[in-house]
Amino acid sequence: MKVVYMDNNATTRTAPEVVEAMLPYFSTYYGNPSSMHYFGGQVAKQVQEARSQVASLLGADPSEIVFTSCGTESDNAALWGTLNSYPDKKHLITTRVEHPAVLNLAAYLSKRGYRVTLLPVDREGRLDLNQLAAAITDETAIVSVMWANNETGVRFPIEEIAEIVKSRGAVFHTDAVQAVGKIPIAMSRTPVDLLAFSGHKLHAPKGIGVLYIRRGTRFTPFVIGGHQEKGRRGGTENVPYIIGLGQACQLAQAHINEENQRVRNLRDRLELGLLGRIPNVLINGDREHRLPNTLSVSFEYVEGESILMLLSNLGICASSGSACTSGSLEPSHVLRAMGVPFTAAHGSIRFSLSVYNSEEEIETVLKELPPIISRLREISPFWNKRTAEAG
Ligand code: PLP
Repeated sequence: MKVVYMDNNATTRTAPEVVEAMLPYFSTYYGNPSSMHYFGGQVAKQVQEARSQVASLLGADPSEIVFTSCGTESDNAALWGTLNSYPDKKHLITTRVEHPAVLNLAAYLSKRGYRVTLLPVDREGRLDLNQLAAAITDETAIVSVMWANNETGVRFPIEEIAEIVKSRGAVFHTDAVQAVGKIPIAMSRTPVDLLAFSGHKLHAPKGIGVLYIRRGTRFTPFVIGGHQEKGRRGGTENVPYIIGLGQACQLAQAHINEENQRVRNLRDRLELGLLGRIPNVLINGDREHRLPNTLSVSFEYVEGESILMLLSNLGICASSGSACTSGSLEPSHVLRAMGVPFTAAHGSIRFSLSVYNSEEEIETVLKELPPIISRLREISPFWNKRTAEAG
């Protein structure tokens, strides 16, 4: 069965160029970059080269890049690293729609003496920046707001938010796991102190992440050990993955404009095609301020999991906006925070594209999905009740 992969916000295919760049670092150049000998020194040079490639994609200085194991570690390091640097400040601010890498840590911290403010979003998934500004006090150590949401693709105005947070004297962190490689980012113009991202969302392998730490930012290491990463993250460097991430960042930089236009066109074609072919369809999130590759769409009165299963039987991979908790399907915290009606939130599907998707694949989904929705609605008591009531 041919796979039509449209779940790139979950993870991406490792680019063939990335695999090729990594291979020599397993069994030919396997030295430890911290070693004094030439063999290790050669590897250290290549790690530095990869650091420059990553920095270049962010418009940052290579000295501001710290390699970690994943996006989750980077987010945790940002929050812990700041809170431990400001032991007298016991308040942090984040949003209701963050990834669990931030949200669950915030919940944990709230049980350990920290005051946590969770900012709400509106029906389109947008933040009220006045509310954000008003929440910051002298006690606030850090504000953490994601650059783009993984479920809806909604982008927050990070430049503006960073200005507000900095003007009030708190540290600003952004979880940019879904943004890096998809939209242009320039740290030189954006007063963000800390930024997290993850390799496997931009065609590098799983198990490598980055924490950007702006020069001069107070930071206490989260992983304490050797002197690697200038003492900011202990542990022998994951050399092959670092090399792969450098290559992936270089590819992303080369393709960001041209490919994103193409990916955006594919996403828009899918969106308009679904809206035109299926009744009672809602698009979730601010359509104007969205990642170019993401489409969160709700098919009212059907269950997302059933749609996913039937799509999966045809080789089409997407994901749903609900999570199975204690045996019942709960709409995701993101859709709940946005107030998406129950009947729509349950039937929500996320399609997330990449540069590897084609027009032909969009046509396949547009052909296969409408009959699936009709079939599921035929057996949906909610849909039938609604149709009977409508007369
Ligand atoms: N933050 C966001 C917005 C994400 O989408 C993800 C992964 O889906 C993460 C953090 C966690 O990244 P990782 O899987 O590398 O730990």
